[in-house]
Amino acid sequence: MIVGRFAPSPSGRMHLGNVFTALLAWLDVRQAGGRLILRIEDLDTQRCSLAKAKQLLADLQWLGLNWDEGGLKPAYCQSRRTEHYQAAFAKLQSAGLVYPCFCSRAERLANNLLSAPHLGENMQAGSCSCRSLAVSERVEKMSAESRKPAWRVCVPAEEVRLLDDNMGEYWENLATDCGDFIIKRSDGVFAYQLAVVVDDAAMGVNRVVRGRDLLNSTPRQIWLHKMLGYPPPSFAHVPLLLAADGKRLAKRERSMDMSALRQRYTAPQLIGALASLAGLQPEPRPVEPSELIDNFSWAQVGSRDIVVEDIFVES
Ligand code: GLU
Repeated sequence: MIVGRFAPSPSGRMHLGNVFTALLAWLDVRQAGGRLILRIEDLDTQRCSLAKAKQLLADLQWLGLNWDEGGLKPAYCQSRRTEHYQAAFAKLQSAGLVYPCFCSRAERLANNLLSAPHLGENMQAGSCSCRSLAVSERVEKMSAESRKPAWRVCVPAEEVRLLDDNMGEYWENLATDCGDFIIKRSDGVFAYQLAVVVDDAAMGVNRVVRGRDLLNSTPRQIWLHKMLGYPPPSFAHVPLLLAADGKRLAKRERSMDMSALRQRYTAPQLIGALASLAGLQPEPRPVEPSELIDNFSWAQVGSRDIVVEDIFVES
């Protein structure tokens, strides 16, 4: 049985790119006759809220993209699952894979900038010098520093490969392309990279469909699955939707968020237009999501990013 998930962060209104990913995750699972879980990734409690999560569910329902399990129940909201992340953290810690990092935020940001080809908010390539601190130095720093440490996992100099069902082969050397990454922030909040692995495993997810901006997080997630003794899921990463100028459609692009889209289109019009962008039908003819199930294939979607200008022009 295929168990897929859609795992949005309720930090704002869904935009066209999120809807595109949700549609493909939905089709992938529905075609396989599997189960779809809706998980709310609200670890960032500053930016996420219950009101935004409710709006997200309402938007998915309006689109006709249903789910079989999850939603707003605490067991499916990351902000309510801390004890699961704590248990995984303790497991990694007892395997000797975790160390405290006392670098300032600025130093970590500087590390980010060194990893130009993989720039993104989750990246910090290159290991940190805190890895080689002696136990006594750690103890001393722990009691002396007023600032609490962040916690990193030690990655090996090992190549992790995957065969993505849409993007093809992808690999990274964990030490040089990724580096020791943070799994718990200094404020005690567990990082996305750990939470996503723990949750996918705990919820029995064996299929992950998401935006290709997360492809370069996948090797470290596969490695974390293995370190925690879980079988990794299979993956299909979805192309990004780009604005006419070739830049990624950003959340700030208000004309592409669900509030604006719902005023301009009916749900079948929106689904039909997205299906046409995905190569699932030749014209942006209005359709219900269920009409697309039979003919859905990743070969039609392809791996190249998609420019949306010609369909979503203001009329
Ligand atoms: N919560 C992430 C997002 O909204 C998605 C994480 C995932 O699919 O692994 O971008």
